[in-house]
Amino acid sequence: MHIYKVGGAVRDRLLGRPVTDIDWLVVGATVEDMLAKGFRPVGADFPVFLHPKTGQEYALARTERKSGRGYGGFTFHASPDVTLEQDLIRRDLTINAMAEDADGTLYDPYQGKADLDRRLLRHVSPAFAEDPLRVLRVARFAARYAPLGFKVADDTLGLMQHISASGELLALTAERTWKEIERALMEAHPKVFFEVLRACNALHVLLPELEPHPQTLVALEQAARHQLALPVRWACLLHPLPTASIKALNQRLKTPRECQDLSMLTSQCLEQANKALELPAQTLLDLLQTFDVYRRPQRFEDFLAACRAIAQGNGQTDYRQADYLQGAMAAARAVDVKPLVQAGFTGQALGEALKNERLQTLDAYKGS
Ligand code: ATP
Ligand code: MG
Repeated sequence: MHIYKVGGAVRDRLLGRPVTDIDWLVVGATVEDMLAKGFRPVGADFPVFLHPKTGQEYALARTERKSGRGYGGFTFHASPDVTLEQDLIRRDLTINAMAEDADGTLYDPYQGKADLDRRLLRHVSPAFAEDPLRVLRVARFAARYAPLGFKVADDTLGLMQHISASGELLALTAERTWKEIERALMEAHPKVFFEVLRACNALHVLLPELEPHPQTLVALEQAARHQLALPVRWACLLHPLPTASIKALNQRLKTPRECQDLSMLTSQCLEQANKALELPAQTLLDLLQTFDVYRRPQRFEDFLAACRAIAQGNGQTDYRQADYLQGAMAAARAVDVKPLVQAGFTGQALGEALKNERLQTLDAYKGS
């Protein structure tokens, strides 16, 4: 049995980037061999094992053949006679199809190193077109490595266009699609991800709601520049869309709750935030109430971060509204309920009295 380091770990070491997770490939072994060595099997679909001590993933060399639509439509063939070259050829990009053995010898049958040097994201073989997820993966790698000067090779972009036209992208599950989008959003230049999707006509298929709003990418880039959290980036991207589109998009992609909430609230309340300094105390109070700042202050902070990134995207460098609203939140949150309880207020009357106190506090805040 031969064990190789493969994929991202080899690529990122050659690029001089930090290697976080290591994928291992085992050639010349059977499932029984692995179990005898104490590896723990994972995954029902193909033979992947966890190392008994390190917990890292070890996959048996395999070949695969397309047998139907979508990701489920693959037949895998893992056996001790599958060679390193046969395993590597089914991978997406040449830069991801390199292997390294324990001595540090590089195995590079598909010229991945040359493509790394040329800064090219190039598919390994025509079988690339068999898994539509690769469109999203390539766009994500393009976003990640844009600062290093990487581009998608012309013929690879051609295959991606072919996949977009085939309708296969629609066979991807929401979970797999969102996972790629989420990872892309968290890259340093998420804008490139969407630009590549646009260039291969996948944006139109997967995220048609975004097509008419290319300017939102500027807000997203600002959010990434400030290393803001995922929900903030998502909210920046969706902010100018009609509410119905935001809702539909979130439902279709089954996005996490925080992403749904913040994208909806941001699109609904952005205009008010922009006018914050002119808002009457009652409207300020309603805005704080909408965000439930008494229980969830972080969500309002995230909203303000999104508003600031959107303003910066529009060329506005000084967004005083954010500090002002933060002050308003602090003032409203500082109102103490205890004296009201001591004064004998209960139930609905207590709620009213508290609201009144907060209103007066915000009035004073406005005047200060
Ligand atoms: P990352 O740094 O994002 O983890 P990675 O290249 O290690 O990048 P993984 O998703 O961990 O990506 O996959 C490991 C390797 O498996 C890839 O480098 C690639 O060779 C192969 N691979 C993963 N997904 C696919 C796919 N959908 N099609 C073809 N090859 C794939
Ligand atoms: Mg990896």
